[in-house]
Amino acid sequence: MRLSRYYLPILKENPKEAEIVSHRLMLRTGMIRQQSQGIYSWLPLGKRVLDKVNRIIREEQDRSGAIELLMPTLQSAELWQESGRYDAYGKEMLRIKDRQDRPMLYGPTNEEMITDIFRSTVKSYKSLPLNLYHIQLKFRDEIRPRFGTMRSREFLMKDAYSFDLTREGAEHSYNKMFAAYLRTFSRLGLRAIPMRADTGPIGGNLSHEFIILADTGESEVFCHRDFVNFDIPAEDTNFDDVAGLKAIFDKWTSVYAATSEMHDEAAFDAIPEGERLSARGIEVGHIFYFGTKYSEAMGAKVQGPDGKEHIVHMGSYGIGPTRLVPAIIEASHDDNGIIWPASVAPFDAVVINMKAGDEACDRVCEEIYAALTKAGKDVLYDDTDDRAGQKFATADLIGVPTQIIVGPRSVAAGEVEVKDRRTGARETMTVEAAINRLNG
Ligand code: ATP
Ligand code: MG
Repeated sequence: MRLSRYYLPILKENPKEAEIVSHRLMLRTGMIRQQSQGIYSWLPLGKRVLDKVNRIIREEQDRSGAIELLMPTLQSAELWQESGRYDAYGKEMLRIKDRQDRPMLYGPTNEEMITDIFRSTVKSYKSLPLNLYHIQLKFRDEIRPRFGTMRSREFLMKDAYSFDLTREGAEHSYNKMFAAYLRTFSRLGLRAIPMRADTGPIGGNLSHEFIILADTGESEVFCHRDFVNFDIPAEDTNFDDVAGLKAIFDKWTSVYAATSEMHDEAAFDAIPEGERLSARGIEVGHIFYFGTKYSEAMGAKVQGPDGKEHIVHMGSYGIGPTRLVPAIIEASHDDNGIIWPASVAPFDAVVINMKAGDEACDRVCEEIYAALTKAGKDVLYDDTDDRAGQKFATADLIGVPTQIIVGPRSVAAGEVEVKDRRTGARETMTVEAAINRLNG
């Protein structure tokens, strides 16, 4: 992408309305724009990051055996009357009427709709286990939308829903998502800790929120500091291995970690002083086993091996991609701007032409840009006639992992400079070596 032809509306000043660093940087880099309270457009730079986040989420959901579909944002009120949540949901639900005066709503979540799909299409235990997911916009009329897309009213959610014949089956489905979530957050460059979360009236311990420790987080959490040392499940994890996934779950949940609602002061006090961590965190994912709550109310049942009808056991599993993007920034930035983990960076590299219009600089930049693009890299080529200092500042601000700096002096020697955004380290090397570095 040539910057001269791109759309990158960078702000010179720090936006006053932004209270936290991720919000400030997302506005300054022109990743997002607020359209009305808690409702955002994702501008091209932000959209690139969001797409990369979604791709990783999708790959890990697919790997675990979940199957993607797409449900609508608008739902009919009838479904929610069946489950009893139409009245219970309160003011967070945006209610709308269509031209026939039929009550509709903008979905805050999709348990009812997926249960409706299930009950009308699945009849036998032979179709189980089944886990269906989508990545779709949700709307919740939050009392206090804030921090940009961290807590917005319209936001994207990956929500998956599992169906099993038995409670044991549902536990395995839960453990699959547990492992998939650990992998997902790790690939996003994040250390998200699964914490025991409130299960509401159903009880039991099968609900975890995945939380990233951050001072600006809105959740209060308590955990053992040892969490930082745990292994992430490998790429070749066998998701059909019931005992293997249970072992992963048991290991991670053997260490104390709880949200404030589930906090047990006595158990926490049993941890040696100095190993306890009471902190703030950002909830980026939430997994939940809720048994037969919706299947019972809405009549989702299958014929079992015994020939009888069985109400299915369900779970739901959410991740917030539009919250994850600012969460990644909270975890990875410095005074100069964002530092993207390579896996979600909007561009893999930026080629900085320090003297656009100079024949030698232009030629070398074009050569590098063409070679990297051909190799499938996402490259931003700063071919504008801005001052070099401004180009450096922009490259640092938008956080592209590698900068290839092309100036008249180095080009005369057949060389370019390669800068690592995270470490700040600069190295001079031949054009060929710079290309190979990125392709390596
Ligand atoms: P919170 O406690 O932060 O309000 P929640 O518990 O209501 O979130 P869930 O229903 O568990 O959220 O939704 C699953 C995921 O969707 C959350 O873990 C979060 O990543 C994301 N999410 C929920 N609400 C919002 C929001 N208002 N803005 C952005 N992302 C959200
Ligand atoms: Mg939650």
